[in-house]
Formats: sequence, structure tokens, C-alpha cells
Amino acid sequence: MVYDIFIIGGGINGCGIARDASGRGLKVCLAEMNDLASGTSSASTKLIHGGLRYLKYFDFKLVKEALKERDVLLKIMPHICWPMRFLIPLQSFKINNFFIRCGLLIYDYIAGYSILPKTETTNLQNSSFNASLKSKFTKAYIYSDCWVEDSRLVVLNAIDAKKRGANILTRTRVINFEKKGKLWNVITKNNKGEIHEFLCKCIVNAAGPWVDNINNYTNSKNTFSTRLVKGSHLVVNKLFDHNYAFFLTGNDGRIIFVIPFQDEYSLIGTTEVIHQNMDQKPMCSDEEKDYLLNFINNYFDFNLKTENVISSFSGVRPLYSKNTQKSKNMSSITRDYVLNLEFIENLPFLTIYGGKLTTFRKLSENVLSRLKVFFPEMGSEWTMKNSLPGGDFLIHEKKELVLKLQKKYPFLDQICSNRFINYYGTLSFEILKNVKSKKDLGKNFGHSLTEIEVDWLLKNEFAKSVDDILWRRTKLGLKFNDNEKNKLENWLKYKI
Ligand SMILES: Cc1cc2nc3c(=O)[nH]c(=O)nc-3n(C[C@H](O)[C@H](O)[C@H](O)COP(=O)(O)OP(=O)(O)OC[C@H]3O[C@@H](n4cnc5c(N)ncnc54)[C@H](O)[C@@H]3O)c2cc1C
Repeated sequence: MVYDIFIIGGGINGCGIARDASGRGLKVCLAEMNDLASGTSSASTKLIHGGLRYLKYFDFKLVKEALKERDVLLKIMPHICWPMRFLIPLQSFKINNFFIRCGLLIYDYIAGYSILPKTETTNLQNSSFNASLKSKFTKAYIYSDCWVEDSRLVVLNAIDAKKRGANILTRTRVINFEKKGKLWNVITKNNKGEIHEFLCKCIVNAAGPWVDNINNYTNSKNTFSTRLVKGSHLVVNKLFDHNYAFFLTGNDGRIIFVIPFQDEYSLIGTTEVIHQNMDQKPMCSDEEKDYLLNFINNYFDFNLKTENVISSFSGVRPLYSKNTQKSKNMSSITRDYVLNLEFIENLPFLTIYGGKLTTFRKLSENVLSRLKVFFPEMGSEWTMKNSLPGGDFLIHEKKELVLKLQKKYPFLDQICSNRFINYYGTLSFEILKNVKSKKDLGKNFGHSLTEIEVDWLLKNEFAKSVDDILWRRTKLGLKFNDNEKNKLENWLKYKI
């Protein structure tokens, strides 16, 4: 078989392109060397946002595209994406307040018509928001953006791509590619050590922070290069009683978010540190931990310490830079993406530099519009109006859906029902279709994870290991202890 497109990388960009392309009738193969979303796409801050801070760098094009996407994504994936309100605490009579207000006015203006509420100002005195904020903060602006379950976004794109005919290979590393007649021959090695070859007309390099490693296999003459910038997050027990996030500005000009996370936790991030190379697994260093904790302790009355950190994770941004941009500060390098289409030995080879979760759908459309010249018969744009698997309902119907699930399966507790609808949406009913009683859920691994769900993840969501299940299909890894993990691990041995 000859594929039209071979995609290297199963992060959000690779899987988004695979879905879009296969929905247009193209023959697609995607290879991911580890699990789907095992790179940057599971280590983000998990915001679908216009990027308020990018206004400081006059990145209006990116902010506009991203703001428009918020409403589109809320419609096509209301299970894994939801609105979130952000508080920006302010001290009285600071000149910065004026600039922040102007930024928010522009933000709301560029967003245009949106289902998300616009910016408000609130007095912090006698407000439930100031429970732990230092008393110097007297008022706050409240603005809107959205939350997304990042790794589930990737997996849902891959599931849909597969449903539309794409061949999705996980644990399969691209080790080389070469010209063979008028086609590319892509060579892969899977985790069993097997070597396979795939013929295709065009290669898309969506390897995220590994993008330069892939380009090193080619005689590419492009002048772009990536700067690898690590960002780390901390997870602590929930810090506030409300579900608002905080947008905090530091004396060094950096922004840190504190975000309600998985019901019982708060997520704090992120840092920005140069990462030398991708052979080194990105990890949160002690300096980054101290930096984030000090940042937070300057805003709030509590005194967070290292022992309060339950978990941490780090991802690497593949920021693109023309060689001339090397000296710029990291925050100022654009988060926009660049598509570089080249002809290497007369064969098309497209590389993706940079990007954001927020703009993955537009990025995929733009990739396909660049490739249309090679595949003139491909279908037209379609992803704007077609929901991701399980997302065929409206955001305001979510509570009703949880109630419907609880009514049908009264033995599922509130936490489990919420989790199901937030992860699987309407597919929850498909997962549970043969369940008549609690017993039919099968083995209970703890924290509402049962055999029926694990089976679904193995059969339908490309999951193959404990980490795939506990960290990228769910976030139950935060709750599982070693004993519970071992039980799941032992059980998987008989299943895989
Ligand atoms: C700290 C941090 C916070 C962020 N927060 C946000 C946010 O809140 N909102 C937002 O919109 N964006 C955010 N981003 C940006 C966003 O996460 C990234 O732009 C996006 O995840 C990049 O996706 P990707 O598919 O390009 O890369 P990745 O997700 O890294 O995927 C690339 C994949 O390629 C695979 N691969 C590499 N080499 C090979 C090979 N030889 N063969 C096969 N597979 C290979 C890797 O295993 C990897 O899975 C954040 C980024 C970081 C680092």
C-alpha cells in the first residue's frame, strides 16, 4: 500500500493532522515512538487560551486565531474542554493595573462574539476570593479562557483518525527515510525490535521537540531551528474552595497560573528553562520547584513547602527561531507555529515548528491547505463542525448528561460519573452498555477505575501500559499508590 501522508509524531499536531487528512479521504499512516501524547502534549498547562500575555509582544495574529478557536473547540469537544474564569489580583494605585485593563479590553474585543463571559472587576475586600490572598491585593480583574484535558485531546483525535481509515502505530519509532523511485520509503522500528517499511508520497514531521533530530536525517536546507524550552508544573492539594484560576505576574515579568486540577488538586506553573537536548528526559529541578513555591508564597498567606508537592511534570516547548532570534528572551519568542514545506530530492517534506494545543485544529487545516497541491482531489475543511468522539452534545447539557448517567447506573458515585462525562462524554454509555449491576463493572482497581474502563482503554484508546492508563488516558496516577499500581500492572500482564 502507498500512503498519501506519513506523519512522524503522535502528539497533538500529528494526531490532529491525521484526523483532518483521513476525514478528507487521504491515506494516512502515523508513527509514534512511545505512547500517544507522551511528549509535550501531556505536559502542558492545559489551557485553551488566546494568550493574554502574548499581547505584550504584539502577537495579535496568534491571539486572534487562538481566541476564535476557544468557541470552536468548546462546541466540538465539550466533554474534555470547559470554560474557566481567571482572577488577576491587583494592588491599589499600580500603573501596571492600567496596562492589564487595556490588555483585557483588547482581548475581549479581538474575541468578538463568544459564549464566554467578558472581563469584570471585583473588589477583594469581604470577598470569598481573598480567603488566602495577601491583604495588599484589594481588587481583581476576572477574565475568561478554557481548560482542556490535553492528553485526552490527542487520543480522541487519534481514535477519530483511525475510525476514518488512518493507520495509527504506537511504540513505533521512525529510524530513517529515503527516496525510492518517486516515493518516500519510511523505515520504522517498533518496541519488539521489528523493522517495517512504508511507502508514501509525502512526509509530515510533527515530532515536536524532536523535530530537528528528524530533519537531521535529511539534506534539508532550511534555516529554521528550534529552541528547546522546558516548562515545569507542580501539583499540590487544592488551595482554594472556589473553581477560579489565578493569573499571577511576578517581579521578573513572568506569569504563573494556579489552576483547579482534577477536583482535589491545584496545578502551579510554569517555569521557562533552556533544555539542552531531548535525550535527557525533562524533569522539574529543585530550583524550579523553589521558584514556583516562592512565587506563590509572595501572593498568598500560606507557606507552601517542597513537602506539599504531590507531583510534578515537565514538558519541552519546541519554539521555532530564525537563527537571528537566538539572543531574544524566551518569553518573547512567539508561540505561533511555522510550516516549512520543502522538496527534498524532489519529494514533499513538511516540517511543523512550534504551535499550541489551542491552535492544533487550525494548524491541521493549514497543513492540508499547503499539501492540497499534491492531492487536488482531497475533501474540503470539515473539522470545525464535527465533534470529537463523545463530544456530540452542547456544553450547557453537561450537567444533564452526568445526571442521565447516574440515573442509568445508580451504583456509580458522583466523582466517577463526573469523571466519565469529562473524559468520554456520550461514549460513557457505550463503555457501560452491557453493565446491569455493579458486579458487571468487573475488577475494581481503586479510585473508581474498574475492569470495564480499562478494557475500553486497551481496546479503543491505544493504551498499553499502566502509565498510559493512569497518566495519559486518565489522571488517576495522582491517586494510585504503589500497591494499587502493582495490582493493575499484574492484571495487564494477562491482558496484553
Ligand atoms: C510547559 C508547557 C505548557 C504549555 N501550555 C500550553 C497551554 O496551556 N495551552 C496551549 O495551547 N499550549 C500549551 N503548550 C504548547 C503545547 O503543549 C505544544 O505546542 C504541543 O503539545 C506540541 O505538540 P506536538 O505534537 O508538536 O509535540 P509533542 O506532543 O511533543 O509530540 C511529538 C511526538 O513525536 C514523537 N516522536 C519524536 N521523534 C519520533 C520518531 N523518530 N518516531 C516516532 N515518533 C517520534 C514523540 O514521542 C512525541 O510524542 C505548552 C507547552 C509547554 C512545554
